[in-house]
Amino acid sequence: MNSQTPAIQADLIILGGGCAGLSLATRLAIEAPSLHVLIVEPRLTYEEDRTWCGWRVQSHLFEDCAVAEWPQWRVVASSRTIQRGSDAYPYEMIRSDLFYAKALAAIARSSTCSMLQGVSAETCTILEANVEVALSDGSTAVAPWVIDTRPQHRTLRSPWLWQHFLGFLLEFEPTESAFHHVPTLMDFQPEGACVAQFMYVLPIREREFLCEWTQFSRMECMPLELEANLLNWLNRHALPGWKLKRKESGSLPMAVAPASTQGRVIQAGTRGGSMRASSGYAFHAIQRWSESCAASLRTTGVPTAPERSRLLEVMDTLFLQVLQQRSCSAASLFGALFQNCPSDSLVRFLAGLPRTADLWPVVRSLPWTRFLRAGPAAAYNWGRR
Ligand SMILES: Cc1cc2nc3c(=O)[nH]c(=O)nc-3n(C[C@H](O)[C@H](O)[C@H](O)COP(=O)(O)OP(=O)(O)OC[C@H]3O[C@@H](n4cnc5c(N)ncnc54)[C@H](O)[C@@H]3O)c2cc1C
Repeated sequence: MNSQTPAIQADLIILGGGCAGLSLATRLAIEAPSLHVLIVEPRLTYEEDRTWCGWRVQSHLFEDCAVAEWPQWRVVASSRTIQRGSDAYPYEMIRSDLFYAKALAAIARSSTCSMLQGVSAETCTILEANVEVALSDGSTAVAPWVIDTRPQHRTLRSPWLWQHFLGFLLEFEPTESAFHHVPTLMDFQPEGACVAQFMYVLPIREREFLCEWTQFSRMECMPLELEANLLNWLNRHALPGWKLKRKESGSLPMAVAPASTQGRVIQAGTRGGSMRASSGYAFHAIQRWSESCAASLRTTGVPTAPERSRLLEVMDTLFLQVLQQRSCSAASLFGALFQNCPSDSLVRFLAGLPRTADLWPVVRSLPWTRFLRAGPAAAYNWGRR
């Protein structure tokens, strides 16, 4: 392409066809067929690169991509096994290949949604009533609104931690079941130099398990160390004869995201603050945002940014401050939460949808004297954001 090529015109340009970009595009392809949407995505092909888990507190568009759901879950902390559950809110697992296939099919069926693959978005320039996006192939695209979900390199503001993880999807010989049939969300291991280390074990099918070693840490990710820890744990706990079907890994920032900018370029997904700082969960918050953003586009023609709760961000700042300064171990914090807080209140809180009446049980479950001690540093850091 050269600079003579006319700009591509659209009503909305979505930068990034990942979880947030495709969730919104799918909604619009189905619900707003008159809106011209352009999605810009560098990937040429999509693979099963991750699974998204979390509590389904509200229904969403990708429920048919769930490959497992569990009414109960366990946390193993300080040699105690805490098993909890909810009849109302299952913990579910969405497979990314099914998600991508559903989204791409909806976009392909639409006559007004189109996708530019193999192309990156470079810069956004605000013109009077439009935004011009410069693309890596030399072309440009213009629309009144842009949704930006591109990964962002940002300096994390204190308190912060990394959540590094490596997971193996394993298939076992058809003998007895290798692990417990109830998912283990956190099985705390000796911390070492990290703030916390734990195993996450999900029984997907009778002989199939996702086993993940996770670290909360201030250090950079050391992939070889993660793999050695995971293999060591598997050697100690798993039946022999497992087959590795797939690996997944990531490093998620556990820090409250900076305030999003408003205007004609709206930040969404992880970039827009949809990832919960204290847990790294983002999928279900992204679904809620895509539903409300699509509704707003349909009715007013204007997209909306992800909703952010100042109260939850303050609570997460305090929680991360306690973890970062290690005034209380992560095992005892999460153990106390899962042990003492009624499940439905805790799930709504963790999912980012607490009712007012859920907050006190959450606060009461925690060792609040440790939180009082971390309060001044958390307040100082909150003020510096
Ligand atoms: C391995 C893994 C497992 C996870 N598991 C869970 C989980 O179980 N539950 C949960 O709630 N969350 C989970 N998360 C966190 C979060 O839900 C995901 O990271 C989610 O994909 C975030 O969505 P997003 O749209 O913000 O980013 P992404 O899905 O990463 O999408 C960003 C898109 O932008 C594209 N892009 C990059 N550069 C450009 C550019 N210059 N121009 C245009 N596009 C660009 C990328 O190719 C990508 O498609 C996980 C994350 C990872 C990495």
